[in-house]
Amino acid sequence: MYSIPQLYNDFIRGHRVTTDSRNIQEGDVFIALKGENFNGNQFARSALEKGASTAFVDDKAYLLSEKCLFIPDGLGFLQEIAHYHRHRLGLPILGITGTNGKTTTKELCQAVLSKRYRTIATQGNLNNHIGVPLTLLSMDENTQFGIVEMGANHPDEIKDLCEIADPDFGLITNIGQAHLEGFGSYENIVRTKKQLYDHIFRKSGKVFVHTEDPLLMQLSEGHTRILYGKSEGDLKGEIKQTLPYLVYALKTLKGDLYIKTHLIGSYNFDNALAASCVGQYFDVNPLHIQEAIESYRPTNLRSQLVKTAHNTVILDAYNANPSSMSVAIKNFAEIQASPKILILGEMRELGTVSEEAHRKIVSLATENPAHTVFLVGNNFEHCGDNRKFIRHFKDTDTLIEYLKAHPLHASYIFVKGSRGNKLERIVEFL
Ligand code: ATP
Ligand code: MG
Repeated sequence: MYSIPQLYNDFIRGHRVTTDSRNIQEGDVFIALKGENFNGNQFARSALEKGASTAFVDDKAYLLSEKCLFIPDGLGFLQEIAHYHRHRLGLPILGITGTNGKTTTKELCQAVLSKRYRTIATQGNLNNHIGVPLTLLSMDENTQFGIVEMGANHPDEIKDLCEIADPDFGLITNIGQAHLEGFGSYENIVRTKKQLYDHIFRKSGKVFVHTEDPLLMQLSEGHTRILYGKSEGDLKGEIKQTLPYLVYALKTLKGDLYIKTHLIGSYNFDNALAASCVGQYFDVNPLHIQEAIESYRPTNLRSQLVKTAHNTVILDAYNANPSSMSVAIKNFAEIQASPKILILGEMRELGTVSEEAHRKIVSLATENPAHTVFLVGNNFEHCGDNRKFIRHFKDTDTLIEYLKAHPLHASYIFVKGSRGNKLERIVEFL
């Protein structure tokens, strides 16, 4: 039986590693993973045909040639190899977790740190037990800084991801309710997210903490932390404007900088300030921090401003949970425009609290009679009332039929819902 260092040195070092045979390039190493609905071992042959230098399989039936090596557990092997690689490189790693804003904060941190360091960060949202090791393996000798997004929808997942990535620095964006179905309770969510701090504190690393978040302040109390906030902290910032895009002032040693972002919503201030603080801590010139954040454009339906032929749309159809839904609704309430329409999809994966959470969101959304509210999906079925400004649609297709028959004009429209609702499909009818 080979050891991890031996396998690493003999077969992996200097090669790209992939678990997806569709992306194989000449010389890549393929590691077969098994899941509920797929068996990666079946793709070992095609990986080798496309030029893979080695295919690691965890089923002996797929030992097709001398280029195939058997390992007992593909996923465990991927994680161990990634951990070994991360330590061989010895570079600083920032781990980012939280309920909302992980990807946005990660991308802003990447933009900022890339001004000074060759930085590799999680691609897109590859933030789980497979994405984290693949992110680490995408770093090489030239990489000076790593940023790893860590997501969780089950208890203790962050502990496991920390054991793989071993971050030196940590940032929890916020802790709210999401994935309650998998977590079982809010206490489990808090304990799991806190595992990032626990890991960093054990190795005397540092965490970045928002001074206006009482829970995060409490969880990090007594440890080495770098603070950011509106009025207190190592870096202070203040919102100056939110429409159409967020503008904020950063108080730096070189004076106040006005950062004109292309981000929607005051909640993105927290993400941008976090990235500014990370940049300041790692000595990125404030003007470069400004340049990086100003040129960042959100992608993938995360709070994008879209001008359609007839309306202005804030498209936030990437995901939804009670905390991100309520900050987004409050943010929309502050926008001075008329008429305004809130189109809300469901918040999925909430388990037993789902009905109550949907009811609360409807009551928040309808507090402000300046909005017309469209609710989409069965989870809202028992939440509506007869007030004129609420309309309920059983699914996105039914809403599309309505919009075709009753086109909206000159409206300011906010669209948010869980991925499953695919609310972005309505944009061409707005
Ligand atoms: P995921 O759990 O899917 O990885 P994420 O934590 O990476 O999500 P983002 O993809 O950055 O989060 O943002 C998704 C949505 O969350 C945004 O479009 C916005 O509606 C909301 N959001 C982003 N940042 C915050 C924040 N700081 N506070 C509350 N809601 C936020
Ligand atoms: Mg994400």
